[in-house]
Amino acid sequence: MIEMQDVYKKYPNGVMAVNGINVKIKQGEFVYVVGPSGAGKSTFIKMMYREEKPTKGAIMINGINLAKLKEKKVPFLRRNIGVVFQDFKLLPRLTVYENVAFALEVIEENPKNIKKRVMEVLDLVKLKHKARFLPEELSGGEQQRVSIARSIVNSPGVMIADEPTGNLDPETSWEIMNIFEEINFRGTTIVMATHNREIVNTIKKRVIAIEGGKIARDEVRGEYGYED
Ligand code: ADP
Ligand code: ADP
Repeated sequence: MIEMQDVYKKYPNGVMAVNGINVKIKQGEFVYVVGPSGAGKSTFIKMMYREEKPTKGAIMINGINLAKLKEKKVPFLRRNIGVVFQDFKLLPRLTVYENVAFALEVIEENPKNIKKRVMEVLDLVKLKHKARFLPEELSGGEQQRVSIARSIVNSPGVMIADEPTGNLDPETSWEIMNIFEEINFRGTTIVMATHNREIVNTIKKRVIAIEGGKIARDEVRGEYGYED
């Protein structure tokens, strides 16, 4: 359901961040993307939600080629792809509830359905009781759980996470992984770039290792494989 065919990404400054990648990720898979800093992991996953466009090659998601997708269609694509960042990116003046409801309000879902769905996803991340809080009133782990709730409120087929535990302590990171496993169990494909060796080596999943813009390893139940 996600397929890259001969994908290259050269930035305007001449850096070849992705240098010929072919990969297929099936619906419902859980994939870790690992590799040294500067290897091209972020560029690889940014192309999956059209934050970056490839210089060459095709990126197919559910039959749509993101390399050719018109700018005005990008918002429609994003409804089927939830994105979670290392630094949460919550809207600071909106409550937890409002941060999560936002994506549904944009598509003019009816208010009754919005309330039901927002409460459902806040329940999944165990934050119903903090629906009225502002992001700054939450711990880092709680803020990440809000951002996860926001990313799945549209019931996307795919969730992309770029170092989602990068700012969190180990215990909180495991909590976040429990939630990811639950979301994946319900059928959502997860692609997660990470430097967390403990997690990759404990919760065994497919591992794609990127080095110098190419896939260096692709293993069904892989290891982290680096010392950092
Ligand atoms: P990783 O996520 O593995 O650290 P990145 O995809 O961020 O790797 O970066 C891959 C290479 O592309 C690095 O050399 C980085 O400096 C370069 N790069 C990343 N983003 C940009 C950009 N917007 N403009 C120019 N070069 C970039
Ligand atoms: P952690 O140590 O896990 O990062 P904190 O000590 O920051 O967590 O917060 C512990 C609890 O107190 C959290 O549930 C958080 O929601 C709540 N909390 C933290 N700061 C505030 C605040 N300014 N207003 C209301 N609740 C807060």
